[in-house]
Amino acid sequence: MKHFRNEMTLTFSAVPENEAFARNAVAAFCVCLDPTIDEINDIKTAVSEAVTNAVVHAYSGEIGNVTINTVIDDGRIHIAVMDTGVGIVDIDKAMQPFFTTKPDDERSGMGFTVMESFTDSLKVTHNTPSGTVVSMEKAIRGAGWKEKKSSN
Ligand code: ATP
Ligand code: MG
Repeated sequence: MKHFRNEMTLTFSAVPENEAFARNAVAAFCVCLDPTIDEINDIKTAVSEAVTNAVVHAYSGEIGNVTINTVIDDGRIHIAVMDTGVGIVDIDKAMQPFFTTKPDDERSGMGFTVMESFTDSLKVTHNTPSGTVVSMEKAIRGAGWKEKKSSN
């Protein structure tokens, strides 16, 4: 069977208005895999948490950019949400449930925990020269992309 690869990259301003845009754009891109509603909702939730983090935590004062790179590789989706903001000093600590640097801001410190539970793998690294990269992967097992491809 032929290998199926598809890629898209989006860059947008780190403003709250773009959180819904970003999660819906990634969801729309994934539709070619014929995902289930649950799989789409999982992806939307994970993307939403990562983008919200970039909007809320990455930049202070200025409005920076968020870039999302999404690669579909056969039945797997790889999503990287990147910013060039202040970065995270202690990534392991930041990823612990209930850890937040904004407790007074109605933040519960559960964003990374949510991303982890709605995807198959989550990796957080430092961006170069500054900022954060959140890489997530998820297998899309939903409704028959293989059958559709082989009949084309
Ligand atoms: P919640 O997501 O529940 O509203 P939260 O955003 O504080 O709260 P997490 O999403 O788990 O919780 O993030 C944990 C901490 O990691 C944040 O409080 C923040 O200090 C840091 N962090 C997360 N993403 C970024 C980012 N893109 N840039 C800088 N710091 C970040
Ligand atoms: Mg968060």
